[in-house]
Amino acid sequence: MSKEGTLFDQIIDKTLPADIVYEDDYVLGFKDINPQAPVHILFIPKIRIATHNDIDAENMDYVSKMHLAINQYAKEIGEDENGYRLVMNCNKNGQQTVFHIHIHFLAGRAMSWPPG
Ligand code: 5GP
Repeated sequence: MSKEGTLFDQIIDKTLPADIVYEDDYVLGFKDINPQAPVHILFIPKIRIATHNDIDAENMDYVSKMHLAINQYAKEIGEDENGYRLVMNCNKNGQQTVFHIHIHFLAGRAMSWPPG
């Protein structure tokens, strides 16, 4: 994993502004700058895990906490029953552009399947 950080470190540090909708000691949730659905939130761990391939026994607690945060947020905005889509892109074929794992939380409309 590269030692270099990403812009998400600056969002965690609050040196780069973001529209934060969820925060706890482990996880931050903020609006995607280029939303693909009426609700498009990025949930990130407050430590740098570059890709899904870098999740391991030591850091998986952060990943669990991301999912708990998503459940809490979905309920809070009343989209838990309607449903939503979670996406995590990995590396080139997955079209990952920011190398700090993030779960895209997409809601507010029916999603199509399969994705492109
Ligand atoms: P990826 O393609 O890596 O799965 O997703 C990266 C996401 O980060 C994209 O959906 C993109 O719109 C979002 N993004 C990139 N730069 C910024 C930024 O400066 N602020 C916010 N809020 N989102 C960003």
